[in-house]
Amino acid sequence: MQREPLIFLGTCDLAGHVRGKGFPAAALGHRLHKGIGLTHSNIMMSAFGPIYETPFGTLGDLMLVPDPDTKVDVQFEGSAAEHFYLGDILTTEGENWECCPRHFLRRALKELQREAGLVVLAAFEQEFVYTGIEDRPSATYGLDAWRRQGIFGEAFAAALRQAGVTPDSFLPEYGARQFEVTVAPGQGLRAADHAVIVREMARAVAFRLGHRAIFAPMMRPDGIGNGVHVHFSLREPSGAPALHDPAGPYGLTQTGQHFAAGVVHHMPAIAAITAPSVASYFRLRPNRWAPTWTNLGIRDRGSSLRVCPVFAPADPADAARQFNLEYRVCDATASPYMALGAIVHAGLDGVRRNLTLPPPPSRDFWDMSEAEREAAGARPLPHLLEEALENLARCRAARDWFGEQFLDVYLRFKQSELRAVAGLDEAATCERYVAAY
Ligand code: GLU
Ligand code: MG
Repeated sequence: MQREPLIFLGTCDLAGHVRGKGFPAAALGHRLHKGIGLTHSNIMMSAFGPIYETPFGTLGDLMLVPDPDTKVDVQFEGSAAEHFYLGDILTTEGENWECCPRHFLRRALKELQREAGLVVLAAFEQEFVYTGIEDRPSATYGLDAWRRQGIFGEAFAAALRQAGVTPDSFLPEYGARQFEVTVAPGQGLRAADHAVIVREMARAVAFRLGHRAIFAPMMRPDGIGNGVHVHFSLREPSGAPALHDPAGPYGLTQTGQHFAAGVVHHMPAIAAITAPSVASYFRLRPNRWAPTWTNLGIRDRGSSLRVCPVFAPADPADAARQFNLEYRVCDATASPYMALGAIVHAGLDGVRRNLTLPPPPSRDFWDMSEAEREAAGARPLPHLLEEALENLARCRAARDWFGEQFLDVYLRFKQSELRAVAGLDEAATCERYVAAY
């Protein structure tokens, strides 16, 4: 018997999981146009699986239609291929559905282009735990840890390349059994698609080797976080850099300053989108190289928005091309579509309102007292998902980013997740997320 090839079509949903349906590869031509059927309540599938609550009930039909540019077709010796597409959720009339996460990002990108004439170039730097290696003291950044992951790294790099994503670095990180991967930047939607594909290829390769790649924000409450850092810059549609001005404060162009100010201003609210799980807030604590304050820092990995370094710039044009900001209040419980969408919506709001940044601090942010940090324009990040959700519910701009229905849907979705882990202690909560991500 010869196996019949199947293709999966999914989207990275509000829980940050890729969910969808499969079909015979022979039907691809038809499916590229008509996609597959979904119902509205599909978007309410929680981080842990069950639909805890849904405003949509059992009613209604939608279509999930593949974007041909997201095609992944990676062969694994002696195992089924990873053949899937990512897509958009449309109404049965073929209109984009308001609650589609990929559309949330697309809308932000369109508005940025229309109102500021700019596009976004982004790359997601992602940390995860590979279970195929035991923890050993001294493993952090170690050649021995790098060696002991065996063929995982090389298979992962090959899978990424075959999936159309260019690997940039792969390293043993600071935490127990923790690794990090970076890939080449992509424009707009493509960057978020790539972030989804990177997670799935890590899981796919680990699975073929009998192990897991775990993207939960924290393995245990006192551990090291798995962060997702979103590097981004603004570009003219021609590709010309539009974020860097060596003479500007923080090295930013005028528009870049407004954009960064918007991101920092909205951080307490958009944390509910970019760090959207209960365990996300166990990561955002002191002494983890994860952010704890809303601040723009120059080359400071403790800041929530970081001005990244430029390496050996050959000329000013090279410096402008390399220059990027890194948003660090993010982890893999967030759909990359929602996370990048939130950053772009918040940044564009800063451009619209001409928001300004505090002057670059004259001393080390971490030498300041809390009162001094606040006087310098920083605020503590939310300490709990509840707090972040309250900020998001109160944020008037967010009503426009989401649309009236989607914001309500999103808040209800996340509140049901809060209830699902209510009463668990932090260790048990981490375990739930480790099992799910
Ligand atoms: N693991 C840290 C985090 O949770 C980041 C470490 C780094 O700077 O790469 O964000
Ligand atoms: Mg790292």
